[in-house]
Amino acid sequence: MSEVTREAMEYDVVIVGAGPAGLSAAIRLKQLDAELNVVVLEKGSEVGAHILSGAVLDPVGLDALIPDWKEKGAPLNVPVKDDNFFMLGEAGKVRIPNFPMPPLMSNHGNYIVSMGNVCRWMAEQAEALGVEIFPGMACSEIVYGENGEVKGVVAGEFGRNPDGTEGPGYEPGMELHGKYVFLGEGVRGSLAKEVIGKYDLSKGKEPQKFGLGMKEIWEIDPEKHREGSVTHTMGWPLGSNAGGGSFIYHLENNQVYVGFVVHLNYKNPHLYPYMEFQRFKHHPMVAELLKGGKRVAYGARAISEGGYQSMPKMVAPGVALLGCSVGMVNVPRIKGNHNAMLSGKAAAEAAFAAIRADRSGDELSAYETEVRDGAIGKDLFKVRNVKPLWSKYGLAASLAVGGFDMWTNTLGFSVLGTLKHGKNDAEATGLAKDFKEIDYPKPDGKLSFDRLTNVSFSFTNHEESQPAHLRLLDPSVPVTVNLPKFDEPAQRYCPAGVYEVVREDGKDPRFVINFQNCVHCKTCDIKDPSQNILWTVPQGGDGPNYPNM
Ligand SMILES: Cc1cc2nc3c(=O)[nH]c(=O)nc-3n(C[C@H](O)[C@H](O)[C@H](O)COP(=O)(O)OP(=O)(O)OC[C@H]3O[C@@H](n4cnc5c(N)ncnc54)[C@H](O)[C@@H]3O)c2cc1C
Repeated sequence: MSEVTREAMEYDVVIVGAGPAGLSAAIRLKQLDAELNVVVLEKGSEVGAHILSGAVLDPVGLDALIPDWKEKGAPLNVPVKDDNFFMLGEAGKVRIPNFPMPPLMSNHGNYIVSMGNVCRWMAEQAEALGVEIFPGMACSEIVYGENGEVKGVVAGEFGRNPDGTEGPGYEPGMELHGKYVFLGEGVRGSLAKEVIGKYDLSKGKEPQKFGLGMKEIWEIDPEKHREGSVTHTMGWPLGSNAGGGSFIYHLENNQVYVGFVVHLNYKNPHLYPYMEFQRFKHHPMVAELLKGGKRVAYGARAISEGGYQSMPKMVAPGVALLGCSVGMVNVPRIKGNHNAMLSGKAAAEAAFAAIRADRSGDELSAYETEVRDGAIGKDLFKVRNVKPLWSKYGLAASLAVGGFDMWTNTLGFSVLGTLKHGKNDAEATGLAKDFKEIDYPKPDGKLSFDRLTNVSFSFTNHEESQPAHLRLLDPSVPVTVNLPKFDEPAQRYCPAGVYEVVREDGKDPRFVINFQNCVHCKTCDIKDPSQNILWTVPQGGDGPNYPNM
């Protein structure tokens, strides 16, 4: 590629990603000093387009950031009314009572929300304070300063040909420079990954762990709808094949979020997470709820699960990592949005103090200290052993011993110390010859759907005349290494059917990347056993367009 000259714009703080973390940082900076120049860059076609919406939100982050959010019309309309946990067998279920659960597991005081709508509302608040927000602006490169510090990002490059050369309508994009750059890209951020590698920020930490979360929005029979109801399940269909479970949240307008998470440290490369999700909906409890309803949207996204012991160092010269670019999900609660908001607020406060002291381009160590020792660290510390227990000893041990450990940590002590995660998720993948293939029932088109049909309900679009944003470090690896050793698991772990091994008579198998289908979940970047797939940002505006619901 040729050397490109770009215009540069100067800001006090440049924020990548209009998720809850990035927007909270922007809002807090302008609350502290209305004169600060703050810009937020978002790769989605609009704020919220890439936010895999339905969630139970702990409002603690919003309370701290905008205490009068109710008066300001925040879209938190559905308080949680009941909390249900079930252990599923193939045809039956056992209810786990709420009383033995530690208080942190209660959803009392939380809200069922569309996080896309919450982010849209936060963007309005930020713009009212004078933040510049540019959607459709993918940040594709980090700009480094003379002393090796992060000085800015490149955003908005368009119009390269599929081979990477400049096309007729080529736009080089802009450099956006800041005294500080915040990376709020969410889980497995591509720029965050570069920064973590360059400054060796994971040194001495446990590897980050992940799950793959898939979600559908359903409109169901009003007779069966129970606004404010929250259900979590574990057990069937995953059994001992993988960790994970489901969630079913009843929001407004007879809609239900139905989701399924598969921990990505599963060993059997024949496992097909998407089909596990589809199969789950045929459980009598779920089938009865969804029968007669219709699926109106589908999406998928990785979720960070490493927790306290996996958080990398989150500052380097000129840059701070926010929210799930660090990995701040409380795994047993399946909640990270509150910590994302708190982290954005904390980073903003550290940058405000630094800029006021005439600093720039250095490490915001006050931010790191606040995350580790403040509310976020405390939230994650209590639950730090649940995931390693689950990975090593299975679901029963994680429920019993993990539950006990959460209780003792709530009371202020732990007998287990801090357990390690061990291998990363790619290394956890076993050899195909050592595991049985799994027979998945064919989707029926009513409750369960084939992958490509469902992808059309993510409203994903990628301009085809651009380079594939999913890059192979070595193009031969999928067929020469992954296929014989792992039966090329990309064919199955991708929830959008991006990767195919095509076999034609008399020819060698071919590995095909249908990047147009990519829903930006990042699972390939995480789970490829050869770590040969690099997820990079496509042109701005491309990707899913999750609906405004
Ligand atoms: C299936 C599933 C269910 C979940 N359920 C819950 C729940 O019920 N409650 C809860 O609290 N949490 C839940 N979480 C976790 C929660 O989604 C995350 O903790 C939260 O999204 C983290 O916020 P963030 O701002 O760090 O990142 P994100 O919300 O991921 O936002 C990142 C934003 O940055 C943009 N971006 C990324 N890279 C670039 C780039 N290079 N250039 C420009 N823009 C970029 C993205 O498009 C996106 O808009 C769930 C997660 C999953 C996957």
